[in-house]
Amino acid sequence: MSTYTPLDSLVRQLAALPGLGGRSARRIALHLLQRKEQQMLPLAAALQEAAERIRNCQHCCNLDMSDPCAICSDARRTESRQICVVAQVSDLWAIERTGAYRGVYFVLGGLLSALDGIGPQDLKLEKLSARVFDLQCEELILALSATVDGQSTAHYIADGFAGKPVKVTRLAHGVPIGGELGYLDDGTITTALKKRSA
Ligand SMILES: [Zn+2]
Repeated sequence: MSTYTPLDSLVRQLAALPGLGGRSARRIALHLLQRKEQQMLPLAAALQEAAERIRNCQHCCNLDMSDPCAICSDARRTESRQICVVAQVSDLWAIERTGAYRGVYFVLGGLLSALDGIGPQDLKLEKLSARVFDLQCEELILALSATVDGQSTAHYIADGFAGKPVKVTRLAHGVPIGGELGYLDDGTITTALKKRSA
């Protein structure tokens, strides 16, 4: 028999969320308990509804209320024959917010990481190959982080598609909008110089 009280369970569930520890979990639990009607019950209802209604898209692994997701169901977007590969759904959201991309996506679900023991078998690479084939994709845009893990994942995927009839491209690295040169790291400046454009 568990001896946890409902308050203990609440704090434990909150403390397990990313970025929260025991201290913030207790603070949030107290905050919610003091605002049951205004915040706690609506939050519980939102959690319940999201858990029941939001699912992973079978084609791109995006989260949406429909499967296939709204993006994969949009013929104008599938017809672009471009797939933008991202690590997480949050990256997809970031690109969608710009409104600058009109193709479809593929969410890998992570990055290769020797440190965290994440190998190719842990990413949905076979599903990606199948999607490239099904859509007769012409361009695979690797929108992965400019970190060691992001770049080794990009290398791995690019190698996998070498010799296949699909162009593999990557996001440009360079001086960020509003960025001052004096504050940039050497790697960013070196890459920006190499990839300079007219
Ligand atoms: Zn989708």
